[in-house]
Parts: sequence; C-alpha cells; structure tokens
Amino acid sequence: AEALGKNTYHIYSPTISINSFKHYELERDLRKSIENNELILYFQPRVETSTGRIVGAEALIRWQHPVWGLVSPGEFIPIAEESGFINEISNWVLENVCKTIAKWKSEKLHVVPISINVTSQRFLKSDWLPVLLNSLNTYDIDPSLLEFEITETTLLHYEKEVEFAFQYLKELGVKLAFDDFGTGYSSLTHLKDFSIDTIKIDKSFIQRISEPNIEMIIKSLIFMGKGLEMTVVAEGVETIEQFEFLRNQECSEIQGYLFSEPVPVEKLEVMLKRVILK
Ligand code: C2E
Ligand code: CA
Ligand code: CA
Ligand code: CA
Repeated sequence: AEALGKNTYHIYSPTISINSFKHYELERDLRKSIENNELILYFQPRVETSTGRIVGAEALIRWQHPVWGLVSPGEFIPIAEESGFINEISNWVLENVCKTIAKWKSEKLHVVPISINVTSQRFLKSDWLPVLLNSLNTYDIDPSLLEFEITETTLLHYEKEVEFAFQYLKELGVKLAFDDFGTGYSSLTHLKDFSIDTIKIDKSFIQRISEPNIEMIIKSLIFMGKGLEMTVVAEGVETIEQFEFLRNQECSEIQGYLFSEPVPVEKLEVMLKRVILK
C-alpha cells in the first residue's frame, strides 16, 4: 500500500502541473479577453411556478478561450477576483445586459428583467455608481429591469460598503437578490438590514429535496421569504418531482435545467417570443 501511495504521487503530479499551467495561461490571457471579444453572456430563464411563464433571466458569463475552449465562470471568476480584473468584467456584463434590454425594446420584443451576478468587491471601487448610471442613461433602461445577485458570504467581508451600495440601488429602483441562500451564516439579519427583494434557494438544497430534513428547510425558507414579501426562487430544478414539490409549496419562481439550461441570447429571444404567442 505504501508503494502504491508513492506511485500515486508520481501519477498525479503531471495533472497538478497541467492545472497550474492552465491557471497561469488563464490569468495571463484574461486581461485581453474583453478587447479580443472572447467573453459571452448566456441567459437562463426564470419561470413563474404558477403559470409556467418566463418572468426573468439570469445573465451567466462564459469565456471562449482560443486554446482552452469554453471556460466556465467557476474557473475564471476567482482568477478575476484575485487580479482585480473582476471590475472590468462586471462593467462589461452590465453594459451588455443594458444593450440587450435596449435591443429588445427597440425591436418591440417582450422585455423581462435580467439578473446580474455581482461580487461585493465591485462596490469597493467608487466608480461602480457612475458606471451604472452611465449604462442606465446610455441605453435608457428602467432600473427595475435590473436585479443584482449577491451572495451573503462575500457580503460579510465588506458590510459597510455594501450596505451603502444597497441603499443607493434601492433608491434607484434596481432589484436586489440574495444568491445561494441558505449556504452562509448570517442570512436572516442581512435580509432585514438590506431590504432584499428576492431570495434564491441554493441548488444544493433542491438536489436533496427528497430528504425529510431538507424538505422541511426548503418549506421554511419559502414560508419565511413569502412572509417577508420577497420573491422566492428555487435554483437548480432538474426534475418534475422537484418542480411539483415547489409548486405545491407555492415557491414563486424556478430556474434550472428542467425548463432550460443557460442559453445564448438568440435562443432566449425565441423562448420569449413563444411565451407571447401562447
Ligand atoms: P450562480 O450564480 O449560483 O449560478 C447558477 C449556476 O448553476 C450556473 O452555473 C448555472 O449554469 C447552474 N445551473 C443552472 N441550472 C442548473 C441545474 O438545473 N442543475 C445544475 N446542476 N446547475 C444548474 P455557471 O453558469 O457555471 O456559473 C457558476 C457561477 O459563476 C455562478 O453561480 C456565479 O456565482 C458565477 N458567475 C456567473 N456569471 C457571472 C458574472 O457575470 N459575474 C460574476 N461575478 N460571477 C458570475
Ligand atoms: Ca446567481
Ligand atoms: Ca446561485
Ligand atoms: Ca454561486
């Protein structure tokens, strides 16, 4: 067994160096990703549980790297956060989401609000507000068509700055959502402090919905969210059984592969047109 342990080390070490090589290349190339037009936005519909209608969409970023192919945000967002390039990426996402909404308006398509993932680090640099106002003005966007999704974990670190930012967003009319809800620590107090509009129940709960304890937790989260007059969204809904449970509990909205994976904007537009025709 000891010999095996030794061999294992030698077998695994090349993998480790490939991973760090990839990390190195991604870090090196990320700065050029915007000017090289390699970032892409995908959109995942949010569906109203009671009607089956698309009532929103979440913008999810991808990076088409010339060598490594389609890189997932789980891989490059942490790198972007380390290097600070996350601010440029956030601005790019915001601008492109506004551009998309403006295009829908001008083509008289059915417009739904779009949610953007924001790391609270973004609020530490004071240009976030002028950049936001500029995008809203340039594309003439009603602020209530934007929702910022933020996780409580990141929130913990910069409480003052984020509190200020959230007050401002609230006054502007931009919606606020608590992402990955239930996975952090101080969720309940923060809900009260920041007047959140939406909670998104983390997909790790939805995936274990059939376990009795988890079932009770989900029921409680829905009950609490609705009691506080918030929209409750269940993430990662993959099966009919999960959907029916959530519908019976009157969870407001669902998001997940059961209805649609994240798709390019053209595909979302096709789905939105279909909704109108019905
Ligand atoms: P998130 O905000 O929790 O996004 C939901 C993730 O769950 C997405 O992964 C989505 O593709 C995936 N998902 C959706 N439905 C299902 C399902 O039914 N089953 C399963 N197993 N997964 C599902 P994705 O697109 O890889 O994004 C991962 C994370 O990267 C996001 O987690 C978010 O934290 C971050 N991210 C994505 N786009 C951006 C962005 O523009 N800016 C920032 N700062 N972070 C982003
Ligand atoms: Ca999210
Ligand atoms: Ca989430
Ligand atoms: Ca997440």
